[in-house]
Amino acid sequence: MKKSSKHLGIAVSNGYGLGNAYIVNEPDLFFEEKRTTSKDAEISRFSNALNDFKKQIHDDLNEAENLPLGDEIKILEGQSAIADDPSVYEDTLGLISKGLTAEAAIGTICDKYISLFSQMEDKIFSQRAFDVKDFKTRILHILLSITEPDISALNEKSVLITKELTPSLAGKLSNKNIAGVITQAGGKNGHAAIILRSLEIPAVFGVDDIINKIAENDYVILDGGTGDVFIMPDALTINEYNEKKYLYLQEKEEYKKFAGKETKTSDNVSLKIYCNMESEVDVPAFIQSSAEGVGLFRTEFLYLNSSSPLSEDHQFEIYKRILLAAKDKEVIIRTADLGADKSLDTALTKKENNPFMGQRGIRYSLNHKEMFKAQLKALLRAGIYGNLKIMLPLICTYDEVFETKALILECKNTLSSQNIPYKEDLSVGIMVETAAASVISDILSGISDFFSIGSNDLAGYIMSADRTNPYVSDLCSVYEPAVLRSIKNIIINAKNADIPVGMCGEAAGDPLLTPLLIAYGLEEFSVSPTKVLSLRAAISKWSVNEAKEVEKMVSKLNTRDEVEKYLKSVKR
Ligand code: PEP
Ligand code: MG
Repeated sequence: MKKSSKHLGIAVSNGYGLGNAYIVNEPDLFFEEKRTTSKDAEISRFSNALNDFKKQIHDDLNEAENLPLGDEIKILEGQSAIADDPSVYEDTLGLISKGLTAEAAIGTICDKYISLFSQMEDKIFSQRAFDVKDFKTRILHILLSITEPDISALNEKSVLITKELTPSLAGKLSNKNIAGVITQAGGKNGHAAIILRSLEIPAVFGVDDIINKIAENDYVILDGGTGDVFIMPDALTINEYNEKKYLYLQEKEEYKKFAGKETKTSDNVSLKIYCNMESEVDVPAFIQSSAEGVGLFRTEFLYLNSSSPLSEDHQFEIYKRILLAAKDKEVIIRTADLGADKSLDTALTKKENNPFMGQRGIRYSLNHKEMFKAQLKALLRAGIYGNLKIMLPLICTYDEVFETKALILECKNTLSSQNIPYKEDLSVGIMVETAAASVISDILSGISDFFSIGSNDLAGYIMSADRTNPYVSDLCSVYEPAVLRSIKNIIINAKNADIPVGMCGEAAGDPLLTPLLIAYGLEEFSVSPTKVLSLRAAISKWSVNEAKEVEKMVSKLNTRDEVEKYLKSVKR
């Protein structure tokens, strides 16, 4: 019997998949480059194939309309737009008239667009490269009369294994006829990944050489939350994961009740759950999550994922789209938190001995004023299109906020002088995530419109422990009494100044901490979209008085282990 083995890939879509491997090999799309038939015959082959393609897309769109597939519809519409694009048609005919076959001609045109889109700094555009790739595959299938992979034999015990999942194949799957998907290539934010998440199909991508490690029908397990993959696991592992899957599905059913509901404690105190986002790609997940707003949009990733400097206009368009998608919900966009582990690898960035103590967050922005002003102007302009608040990262001093506000005023004057419309009265708040900001949160509340507690960094800076250093990671814990006291102090100072206070670090979504944060008076919890419903469920299980009892007990404890143990003992 084949030996058991364990592998690690990218955790793409939550859930557990257990079943037999169903391998889908991409068919060989070999074609001749040069025409042997007449030019007219080749043109009519191409035109017929294009018409067949349009018919297929039309049918797919009709089918997709009855399913909860906003993303897939967008992808199909994207492919349909490529097929309808007159320049794609004309350019292809041009190449056919130069002697290429229909396959070679449309292949060349598609490759040109794929390379163009892949180089674009905007993620949404670079994702378009996948749409064109998918279009190319489909039209070549039609031209070569090759049927697309047959997935009709898939059933709820099948785990689909393929080199790279195309969005169109992803769209044909359903969580009723498949246990999960494992691929060798592909990223977390590709369209296929987005579709699998919206279909709630567990998936792990990027498992090295999986195609050669697995055979048809091998029993496999995948954990879409961790990226673990087991091939031919032993009985103990199978039982363990069957149990995990059962509990996961049971909890998920339970949480569904909370979709679209208000966030309330058991004694009816209203709180807010917001989402953390890192790119525009997260917008559909935010909308689907029924969160009450966006508590943190990490704009540094726009810079980090971009191959060229981000222009003001380019940023304006991105912020505008996000605000329009959020409708009237509040959206907190954080100015770039560059530096430390999110360093721009350019000549602008000097090597630092202690980057977490160095030019990071607001320090970096204030030292790169032109770049900062471009972002502030983009935000001011986008503010017209929704309910925007600006947030500043890594604040330590009153002066940093003061200086930024002066810069915002300067940006407003520039925009006014150029007759460019902008939002006059945007709230400007701060991340409270450094020891300094926590200690002087009473002072900072006088110059900030709101606070958001960055518990990830706060734990690191309060405990003097680098959050990325595995040797001290245990010290970097929110359960440490020093960190908890600091959080409580920040919330008290915000309340004394009557400004809103939220938390956008990972601790906001930790169900062990829910009663403590309720007792401290936290009003807004910002978490990843996948945690919204489970947190809403956790909050509904506590009344404020019960939460205060928990806080009373925790305030008497001396160590993080005691805190964690106690919180586990009262978890609901
Ligand atoms: C934090 O520090 O808690 C936070 C939300 O910011 P980031 O994780 O982006 O540093
Ligand atoms: Mg932070």
